[in-house]
Amino acid sequence: MSIIETTNPYTNNKIKSYTKFTSEKVNLMLKTADNTFKEWKLVSLKDRAKLLDNVANVLHENIESYSKLITDEMGKPISESKAEIEKCILLCDFYRKNADLLLADELIKTEAQESFISYDPLGVILAIMPWNYPFWQVMRFAIPTLTSGNTTLLKHASNVTGCSLIIEDIFEKSGYPKGCFQTLLVDHNQIEKIIEDDIVKAISLTGSEKAGRKIAEIAGKNLKKSVLELGGNNACIILEDANLEKYMDTIVKSRMQNTGQSCIAAKRFIVVESIYDKFLKNFTTKIKDLKSGDPSNKDTNFGVMARQDLANTLKEQVEKSINKGANVYFGNKKERTYYQPTILTNVKPGMPVFDEETFGPVASIIKVKDKQEAYDMASNSKFGLGTMIFTNDIEDAKKHISNIEDGSFFINELVKSDPRLPFGGTKASGYGRELSREGILEFVNKKTIYIN
Ligand code: NAP
Repeated sequence: MSIIETTNPYTNNKIKSYTKFTSEKVNLMLKTADNTFKEWKLVSLKDRAKLLDNVANVLHENIESYSKLITDEMGKPISESKAEIEKCILLCDFYRKNADLLLADELIKTEAQESFISYDPLGVILAIMPWNYPFWQVMRFAIPTLTSGNTTLLKHASNVTGCSLIIEDIFEKSGYPKGCFQTLLVDHNQIEKIIEDDIVKAISLTGSEKAGRKIAEIAGKNLKKSVLELGGNNACIILEDANLEKYMDTIVKSRMQNTGQSCIAAKRFIVVESIYDKFLKNFTTKIKDLKSGDPSNKDTNFGVMARQDLANTLKEQVEKSINKGANVYFGNKKERTYYQPTILTNVKPGMPVFDEETFGPVASIIKVKDKQEAYDMASNSKFGLGTMIFTNDIEDAKKHISNIEDGSFFINELVKSDPRLPFGGTKASGYGRELSREGILEFVNKKTIYIN
């Protein structure tokens, strides 16, 4: 198909059609990105970072229309779309204030007269991005990558093509030279040739494990660096001493924000039996309070899933798990893209809702006898994005830090990304880091300079 069609998942109305780019057009864009790189890397870091103020301003001035576009294309509540744009503004602010420091030459004392590390951009970096946070995922890649002096090409998820083109427009409006950020409207089968091209120096993918394996294979074959931010199956441990009164809103949000379509969502709630009944009662009460409806309505706090096939996949995972002994404690009604917030109990390893990533509003509850079993159950996953725990005994939780194999461990807080802290996973959740100093150093040549 040479056409991409976008559809509003709530109304099911078609939004727009786009024609995919021919290979000739893609080749021209690659050359433009490469030519721009030769100029852009010579712009001082200070001047590159200054443009981030413009990006923040453009985002701020257009927050209403950008949020509407996100909600129209992928169905999240409008309040969450606005929060996404606001987070992108914070990201700009962080790198504008800190890029100088993060990319400064690092002096290392040796026998040389002078020796240091300099951080130089690599060149043209390809990003392949998902639809679930259509602005944030792209910006968290693009802002540090451009600021460190690279140029970028984006292949966004097809269902958010409008967002991908608007993001290109944002960089143009902000004064970036043409070719710094370009959106490619291409098929999966065009990606291999793009990655093979000498012009492309590295790849950043945020997406499913399946896409990660494919892109890593192509990147590896071509000896190109890749950063992979893939799926997750985060555990949320609830210990006997958890302060449920204080944290229940956070716990519900950890699963249901973005209609459950978040890589770092709590997907497995591992609850010790002494607090199990209380937890289930309070959790269910809050889940019942969620307001479903038109996601463009500001009072709606629970939207629809982004595509019908995603809702169907989730339903299949749930049905297979029910056949293996899981119980529907609440919800599980589905109508096209709407999936009711759902609570499953009696979930056990071996069921899809325990073993696989459930990318939608299904909370799997696992009862365990004690703390040790809770930690063991939490780490029983091929994914490694993050673990969260709710307990009053912070000192004891800290003793477990070294046993957590994931990219993050949050105590009395949901796993979330923050421009100041590194973000990424281990195991089948991928490798590499975004955000903070770690993120801006992913696509640079850490060059050793030695002067005798
Ligand atoms: P997806 O199906 O893997 O798609 C992600 C992106 O990869 C899209 O642009 C998609 O393009 C493209 N893609 C998929 N297979 C490809 C292939 N073989 N060759 C080239 N491009 C390919 O994932 P999704 O459904 O959009 O997003 C959900 C997944 O992303 C979940 O697993 C979630 O956990 C993960 N995620 C991870 C993070 C993180 O930071 N770790 C953050 C957000 C989401 P098309 O749209 O054209 O198919």
